[in-house]
Amino acid sequence: MIVREYYPGIDYSLCKLCRKCEEICPAAAISLLKEDKRMAVDVKRCIDCQRCMDACPENAITMLPRSGDYALSVDVSELDQEKIGEICRKVGLAPGEAVCACTFVTAQELAGAVLMGAKTPEDVCAMTGVRRGCGIYCLVNIFKILDAAGVRPEERAGSHLYHHPLSSLDIPDDRLREIDEEFPQYRLLEDVSMIRETRGLEDDRGA
Ligand code: SF4
Ligand code: SF4
Repeated sequence: MIVREYYPGIDYSLCKLCRKCEEICPAAAISLLKEDKRMAVDVKRCIDCQRCMDACPENAITMLPRSGDYALSVDVSELDQEKIGEICRKVGLAPGEAVCACTFVTAQELAGAVLMGAKTPEDVCAMTGVRRGCGIYCLVNIFKILDAAGVRPEERAGSHLYHHPLSSLDIPDDRLREIDEEFPQYRLLEDVSMIRETRGLEDDRGA
């Protein structure tokens, strides 16, 4: 769960419709209304990450205090627990495991969002609040969960997201060894072994 305190307000006298805010928004909460020729914010989707404000070259965005609807989370208690467990198992995550070190959103919340209709990483983000912090490490798990649930999102036009579910667990073993030999200081083999052990995954590298 995250708590949202602010939402973006746009000063239309400054906005040049460059759409940089739209490109950077992880929740697809800000977009151009072509008919009105202005940017619009979907406050319900906004996760208060404030990236749009930082990205605006015209300083046209100011974060304004919300007046309600602060908490954002997926209540998994009413959802099909077996399906949630199955999706999480497929990607080697425990349902209660935090997949985002910034927000502590869990794997079961991501799976729950998909069961509730999320079709894109942006939907998962807008429903759970994941990606509000660094927005990097959780992305792999978002794609993996979507993939495990059979959802294949189309790349969003103008989005900076890299649509490939790749983590250190997906690197072929021979490549892992090469990287480990070249950069022993990162202890990659040791890391991958520990992750596999923790998640009860088979370690067939013999390392
Ligand atoms: S989610 Fe972040 S980038 Fe998107 S509109 Fe809200 S504050 Fe701006
Ligand atoms: S980044 Fe700023 S100037 Fe560009 S469209 Fe968004 S609000 Fe307007």
